[in-house]
Amino acid sequence: MVELEGGIRQVTLPLPTRPGHVHSYLLPGSDGWIVVDTGVGLPDAKETWRAELERAGGPVSAIFVTHFHPDHIGAAADLHELTGAPVYQGTLDYAQCELVWGNPAWSERLLDWFQLHGAPPDVTGELVGQSSIYRPFIRYQRDPVLMREGERLDGWELVAAPGHADGQLCLLKDGVLVAADHLLARITPTVGLWPASRPDPLADFLAALDRTVELDPRIALPGHGDLIDDPPARARELQEHHRLRLEETVEALDRERTQTGYELSLALFGDDLKPASRRFAIAESLSHVERLVNEGIARRHELGATVTYTAA
Ligand SMILES: [Zn+2]
Repeated sequence: MVELEGGIRQVTLPLPTRPGHVHSYLLPGSDGWIVVDTGVGLPDAKETWRAELERAGGPVSAIFVTHFHPDHIGAAADLHELTGAPVYQGTLDYAQCELVWGNPAWSERLLDWFQLHGAPPDVTGELVGQSSIYRPFIRYQRDPVLMREGERLDGWELVAAPGHADGQLCLLKDGVLVAADHLLARITPTVGLWPASRPDPLADFLAALDRTVELDPRIALPGHGDLIDDPPARARELQEHHRLRLEETVEALDRERTQTGYELSLALFGDDLKPASRRFAIAESLSHVERLVNEGIARRHELGATVTYTAA
């Protein structure tokens, strides 16, 4: 546990997949700690949190989940059982959480969707039955207190940060932005198009980055990696990264030859990726090409059982 400015504590929890760790934050509130994000629901999550909270001292008054990805929400129910504190989560984010983690048919839906975008069996095969493998580590809290952007939690303003997850919410107070996966120091947060996600997540993300520049926080506390001491500059860097990625996507498109999201991902991310990384590459390629469709630069063709794209 690391003590940061204003009495905020950073708790770094292990993550079995890359990047190997996730940060939670303890924010000092009027009636105790506000815990932001929970880590994955590993079998020893409760013991880990018991030890961390003993070290911090004092009660927990609220548990806040920024977004429903397993490394942020996974141990929410454990923390609730341990502390009795209510869990707070964004309205849209909780709806997507239920749709994905509360839905036994989700992996089939994902499988259909990847097939629609041209993914071959070696990329989709692992998806079969995957939800039953992950489900035990995602112990989200049912019926949390639902929150919306602009509302406050013990003096912290909730700021919408869609893109990485449609319903992601950050917290802002006194120039400190608890940023979750909206801003990361060295990693580019993934921005993918997924089944049932908002139609143009990259547009959402670029607008949310503009908002970060406007809000001009002094420091951002990310979900992974180093603290960010110039958040507006990092927001501009991420916008530039996507501007270049969009240019590459334009170059990859052809006027005549139709390409699926899978084929575009080969052009943009190379052909040497493991299935799980390939699925993210497809989702990222789709978020970029859909941005271009909305700009009138690319065209989507929905013929039969496949979606393809060409240059407009
Ligand atoms: Zn994360």
